[in-house]
Amino acid sequence: MNKKLIVAIDGPAGSGKSTTAKLLANKLNYLYLDTGAMYRAITFLALKHKIVKNESEIVKLLKETDIELIYENGNSRVFANKIELSEEIRSHEVNSNVSDVSKIKQVREILVQKQREIGALGGIVMEGRDIGTVVFPHADVKFFLTATIDERTKRRTKEMVEKGKHIHEDLVKESLLNRDKIDSTRKESPLQKAEDATPVDTSFLTIDEQVNFIYDEVAKVALSKGVEL
Ligand code: C5P
Repeated sequence: MNKKLIVAIDGPAGSGKSTTAKLLANKLNYLYLDTGAMYRAITFLALKHKIVKNESEIVKLLKETDIELIYENGNSRVFANKIELSEEIRSHEVNSNVSDVSKIKQVREILVQKQREIGALGGIVMEGRDIGTVVFPHADVKFFLTATIDERTKRRTKEMVEKGKHIHEDLVKESLLNRDKIDSTRKESPLQKAEDATPVDTSFLTIDEQVNFIYDEVAKVALSKGVEL
């Protein structure tokens, strides 16, 4: 029997990656890894230490920090040196700074290495911006999720409001567009679709529809590789 699969899900913020990846991981009984949470954790710490504009200090801090992700009961939790930061990493301030921190070459090298170690054995659904292009260019199955900017704005605003954070849609839209721009134009592993990734426009799909579509694609690949799901 072959090893379990590596499933890569990339795409911009609000494209439905997290929701889809979590549900898919549950359905497959695979691990789930939200790589964005790692970039968010170091950004939060850099803000806290007031070094967010200092690349070498950020790299030094990251080297001293053990970032752990735990996925249980449908919840993804993030810890830095055993301190939980799951809520803190979702703030507007982190949103506004995370793309600049993620541009730093050494930050990417350290986190990509960690992501490769976590996913090495397969049996994982990993989501991010560069999973299919850089982290696991040989992933068994790759998807690239997109949605219109208006739909992504609507989803993100709703999420924030549900968490009690009232924020104007225009501000959410501006923040999403700004992150898209930095993430897709940066020199190090920019956000782009891997050539062999399946594009999925989620703008007009329900969550069930997108998860079922992706699950069926994964099942086809598993069958062709002789892997039992
Ligand atoms: O996925 P999420 O929106 O939480 O990601 C936050 C930020 O982390 C992205 O805007 C991007 O700058 C960075 N990121 C990245 N590479 C990844 C995942 C996230 O550069 N694989």
